[in-house]
Amino acid sequence: MIEAPSQWIRNYVDGSFVEPDPDRAFDAVDPVTGRAYARVHEADHDLVDRAVTSARAALSDGWAARPVSDRAAILRRAADLIEERFDEFVAAELADTGKPITQARTLDIARAPANFRAFADMVSTAGQESFRTETADGGAALNYTVRKPLGVVAVIVPWNLPLLLLTWKVAPALACGNAVVVKPSEDTPGGASLLAEVLEQAGLPHGVYNVVHGFGADSAGAFLTGHPGIDGVTFTGSSATGTRVMQTVAPRVRPVSLELGGKNAAVVFDDVDIAEAVNGLSRSIFTNTGQVCLCTERVYIQRNVFDEVASGLVGAAEQLVLGRPTDESTTTGPLISAKHRDKVQGYLDLAVEEGANVLTGGGAPDLGGELAGGSWISPTLWTGLTNEARVMREEVFGPVAGLVPFDTEEEAVALANDTEYGLASAVWTNDLRRGHRVAEQMNVGLSWVNTWYLRDLRSPFGGMGLSGIGREGGQSSLHFYTEPTNVCVQL
Ligand code: NAD
Repeated sequence: MIEAPSQWIRNYVDGSFVEPDPDRAFDAVDPVTGRAYARVHEADHDLVDRAVTSARAALSDGWAARPVSDRAAILRRAADLIEERFDEFVAAELADTGKPITQARTLDIARAPANFRAFADMVSTAGQESFRTETADGGAALNYTVRKPLGVVAVIVPWNLPLLLLTWKVAPALACGNAVVVKPSEDTPGGASLLAEVLEQAGLPHGVYNVVHGFGADSAGAFLTGHPGIDGVTFTGSSATGTRVMQTVAPRVRPVSLELGGKNAAVVFDDVDIAEAVNGLSRSIFTNTGQVCLCTERVYIQRNVFDEVASGLVGAAEQLVLGRPTDESTTTGPLISAKHRDKVQGYLDLAVEEGANVLTGGGAPDLGGELAGGSWISPTLWTGLTNEARVMREEVFGPVAGLVPFDTEEEAVALANDTEYGLASAVWTNDLRRGHRVAEQMNVGLSWVNTWYLRDLRSPFGGMGLSGIGREGGQSSLHFYTEPTNVCVQL
């Protein structure tokens, strides 16, 4: 018999962890085995209200007015402390997601201190807009813009890169003098509560960072976005939920930043170094078991190298090692949950119904033993479908891609842009001019050439169409998390 977990993941409000209510709780499930590893206290309406109220009080108690240098120093201390407790954060990420330890160390947890340091630097060196304005009488006026914190910001994040995406929002929000109420995904609650301990140790005043756990509709997510005390929402998640969040905040006209889904394309030209392109494509299709919003799900390949690239990708897919996250040799973890595995499997069945020729994968492997209860899916590639197929238009969010041949550059651009989404793309070519030319024509927020997921945190991040509204990163974050007041002085 499997024992019920004794460990609690708690809400954090006004600088204290809240005593859990056993009657209002759900399981945190390890997707590697399908077993519960902790109980999570689901925040009710009152607790969300307390979190928002304490965030408001922290702002008026002085956080919003603290000198930028003080706020930056706290963020830098937080970065140092995450590094001191690196192994604990890795363990929390592995328990929540089952992702390989090699990835958690180098991508997810490594990015958390990087986010805090980057926004501490950016806020410390940010400039201010000013214009000297000529007036009709021959005089002049000085216009300059001061930026004030937005106020209480609701931060809602998904499960795929939980700590990375959380700190991507919390770091700039705090740097700009806001207080936050964070609602992590119900599937990955661990990291956000651990971050509360670190921020407290770093000297963040009580009430500036709050965590409420729970689900979306009729739970902590909806209670938070519907709360009249929030001044803005930064949301990362699916396009469907993003529209709901926008509708909820619309009557009170609050700013929203939406980082949503994608159906990202890669375009491979025949002049490319095939081994290099296959390596890059394999990363862009299979990283995090395909559960990155930037992952490639459509690959357009110039016809005369189609077979070579396709067989290279099949070889790369078949070399991936599915297994325990703590094994250094594991490259690929499970999907986040049985529910998500069923959704991905549904799309793979649909691909076959729609006429796909599956080159590799296509189903759920049985890894045996303890892992038999995990939400595994085999890396999958298919050919034979056009952009008409539903599975080539809807985001699957798994380790899957459809491969499609093309003949001309114009055709490749048209195929890549034939989507409701607009998040990311990657062009693979050795022709410098063509790389620039095609990259600029992509209707996406992030257009890579001969690489993928190479990020400079000062550059804008986000998408168009169903992929979102607004940008975060660099100046875009500093702008989203502040309200400008323009001052005009007659000289
Ligand atoms: P999701 O939309 O189901 O959930 C995201 C978060 O919203 C969760 O915390 C959830 O509890 C909460 N939520 C759900 N319903 C809500 C409601 N009615 N009100 C308030 N909150 C609510 O998304 P997911 O399945 O957790 O994440 C996967 C999706 O996220 C994919 O579509 C992926 O592309 C997208 N994503 C986008 C980016 C990006 O930067 N553009 C990054 C990562 C993931």
